[in-house]
Amino acid sequence: MDLGIAGHWAIVGAASRGLGRGCARALAKEGVNLVINARDADVLAATAQELQSLNGDIEVRSVAGDIGNEAVRSAILTACPQVDILVNNNGGPPPGDFRDWTRGDWHEAVDANMITPIELIKATVDAMASRGFGRVVNITSGAVKAPIDTLGLSNGARSGLTGFVAGLARQPQLASNNVTINNLLPGAFDTERLRSGLDAASKASGQAVSLIREQRLQGIPARRFGNADEFGAFCAFLCSKHASYLTGQNILLDGGGYPGTF
Ligand code: NAD
Repeated sequence: MDLGIAGHWAIVGAASRGLGRGCARALAKEGVNLVINARDADVLAATAQELQSLNGDIEVRSVAGDIGNEAVRSAILTACPQVDILVNNNGGPPPGDFRDWTRGDWHEAVDANMITPIELIKATVDAMASRGFGRVVNITSGAVKAPIDTLGLSNGARSGLTGFVAGLARQPQLASNNVTINNLLPGAFDTERLRSGLDAASKASGQAVSLIREQRLQGIPARRFGNADEFGAFCAFLCSKHASYLTGQNILLDGGGYPGTF
């Protein structure tokens, strides 16, 4: 299927590894020009080179730095001649016990996983509407639907973004001008973040990583973790011309892990 987005420009945040990189790879294969961001300049440069090698017809630009920083966001926006597609992604907040979290910890989480994507949406959607095409995909978490106790900072901050997006996506000046805003909710995907979580759980419990991994897989009907490329393929479809009637939705990619009917 031709997704109909070749030649468009996309910003993908936190894209040097993991799910962001998977989205950038899928968009590159579809002929989308990219501005990618992540903190580590060397890893980001290697990812940019890899994306360029996937498709010699596209342009790939990179902006290194913390996407939570206003100057970095401004550099990302300046690097992108026209933002047709915005994939909002960032690192996730650390796990822990809410009894230990300070106001500062909460502000950091809300800033990173709610306000940062909202600022990028604010900077881009009205111009998308004036051109009659725009796609925003926010990478959030399955924890928005099925909260994970130890990830309270993530549950809270991402739910704030989800509530905001639910209202914004339904503004007629966006929806009637072919601008869609949707959230992709990853369950368990085999990325560095997931692997470091398994390592931390192993250290905390004294159980082998392989055992923790197996226990985690038992909670997933697909009996495997997702991979970043399949996540990216779904993201690219959401960004396609075919997905113009889908907006304001929360789509869970979790191998059947969430047990509810809706
Ligand atoms: P990852 O650790 O594999 O990759 C994270 C990427 O984000 C890296 O490229 C890193 O350099 C970049 N990054 C981190 N903080 C950044 C910042 N402040 N500014 C710019 N770049 C930054 O993580 P992942 O598994 O790909 O996760 C991506 C997002 O999805 C995270 O918010 C994570 O919490 C969420 N998530 C992941 C899973 C999963 O199973 N992997 C499940 C639910 C939610």
